[in-house]
Amino acid sequence: MKAMVLRKQGLIDIFPLNMEEWEIPEPSEEELLVRVSCCAICRTDLHIIEGELPPKRLPIIPGHQIVGVVEKVGGKCKKFNKGDKVGIAWLRKTCENCLFCNTGKENLCENSIYTGYHENGGYAEYTLIDEEYAYMLPKNIDEVRVAPLLCAGIIGYRAWKKTEIIKGQVVALYGFGASAHIILQIAKAKETYVYVVSQNERHQQLAKELGADWVGNTPSKMPELPDASIIFAPNGSLIPPALQYLKKGGKLILAGIYMSDTPPLEYEKHLFYEKQILSVSANTRSDGQELFKEINNMQVNIHVNKASLKDTNHLLQKLKKGVFIGSGVVVID
Ligand SMILES: [Zn+2]
Ligand SMILES: [Zn+2]
Repeated sequence: MKAMVLRKQGLIDIFPLNMEEWEIPEPSEEELLVRVSCCAICRTDLHIIEGELPPKRLPIIPGHQIVGVVEKVGGKCKKFNKGDKVGIAWLRKTCENCLFCNTGKENLCENSIYTGYHENGGYAEYTLIDEEYAYMLPKNIDEVRVAPLLCAGIIGYRAWKKTEIIKGQVVALYGFGASAHIILQIAKAKETYVYVVSQNERHQQLAKELGADWVGNTPSKMPELPDASIIFAPNGSLIPPALQYLKKGGKLILAGIYMSDTPPLEYEKHLFYEKQILSVSANTRSDGQELFKEINNMQVNIHVNKASLKDTNHLLQKLKKGVFIGSGVVVID
């Protein structure tokens, strides 16, 4: 099978992923072999490829927002059959035994592993997944538009739920990439007001088209202080202003798996009045199932930019530079 393989971490500009010919992997008794249809790209792939996240395994095939078709099922699999459509996300496996796993917080599992980081992911013609961690997808779905839901969607959805805001309240989104453009639409469907802070004019334009109630490049100009804010950009310097321009008792959610350091915080200006900061770490499987259920009842418009497998480096480079709006998706021919 053809695969885009990372053997040595390096800046995306030197195209660290190489096209290689690998054996098609054999599923264990609990696993499915999946023929990949497409795999959406994510900023976490960039952090793995460029070395901001330490390598867990090299060589590795990255990619963790995978849609495909079951090609072969392991002997003990009960839920999936050959030909089923399947989604594979970042959370790949948990120990199912630790305190977190036993209390509904498997996203915090002490021994969790991740797709395209600990185990090979979706920038390839075939991949494997334990059937307990695969999402069953309807046969008639638009694969390319569903792929970005598997990380950008699920993690964004978890961040959205953590805000606990309700109809009529205001949420501010910092950064407007793949995840934020999905969450804005969910927030609007829930009849909340959405403000978007972004420096990128094309992202600002998309936010307006999708119904943002205010769009600008600095939170100081927001028409009123938000009840909650979510930072999607991996930029810790956004934390102080996001806290400063937050209502008393407001929540600031950090939706990134990686973020640069935050500058020092001032107690009175940034933290007092019961403001809360909360990060989001991966997702539980029920977050994913809930999101797919929610999305079914809404009109969510996912903007995609497609590329073929051999052009994966190029698409990731465009993500880094903020060249496209919405989500990038690698389509396997
Ligand atoms: Zn665990
Ligand atoms: Zn991701």
